[in-house]
Amino acid sequence: LLTWEELTEMCNSCARCGLSEKRRNVVIGVGDRNAKIMFVGEGPGEQEDIKGEPFVGAAGQLLDKMLKSVGLDRSVVYIANIVKCRPPYNRDPSASEQEKCLHFLRAQVALIKPRIIVCLGRIAACAIIDSEFKITRQRGMWYERKNYHITATFHPSALLRDESKKRPAWDDFKAIRKKLDELGQAD
Ligand code: SF4
Repeated sequence: LLTWEELTEMCNSCARCGLSEKRRNVVIGVGDRNAKIMFVGEGPGEQEDIKGEPFVGAAGQLLDKMLKSVGLDRSVVYIANIVKCRPPYNRDPSASEQEKCLHFLRAQVALIKPRIIVCLGRIAACAIIDSEFKITRQRGMWYERKNYHITATFHPSALLRDESKKRPAWDDFKAIRKKLDELGQAD
């Protein structure tokens, strides 16, 4: 098991995939390292690359609002991405980039030991839950792996593009909050 210091050092000096070439910052993650709940997106965008923090652009502000609507804050959850460096022009990270980076996310999960993992969007859900995951049909469903309760909802940037997804996403957030409360009581 890596320590946080080792993980940070390895990420910051990583050149395992081509995304290392144009990055300004490696975007490792943000939040509570003892969080019960972890949110995982696909990769950093422009603002995230500049600031070195995940979900700080328009999609991040919407994520903060959604969290707040169910009484959560980014300081009490942990937020990370499948790939830690920005794909150029915000394209999807390739399968090989994801594969090369995923061990860092696995190390984060092993350190944090969250009870719940929420995949934000199709790419994260395909990497974590099932490579054939259909976000529109399977979002909001719960999967149990080892000790983790895993679910997926729309990526906040999809909500910015399509208002009609906001209501189902909000339902997902309410269900996530309910699951968190149930698991809290079981502790
Ligand atoms: S995206 Fe991941 S694997 Fe690729 S260089 Fe960045 S940290 Fe390394």
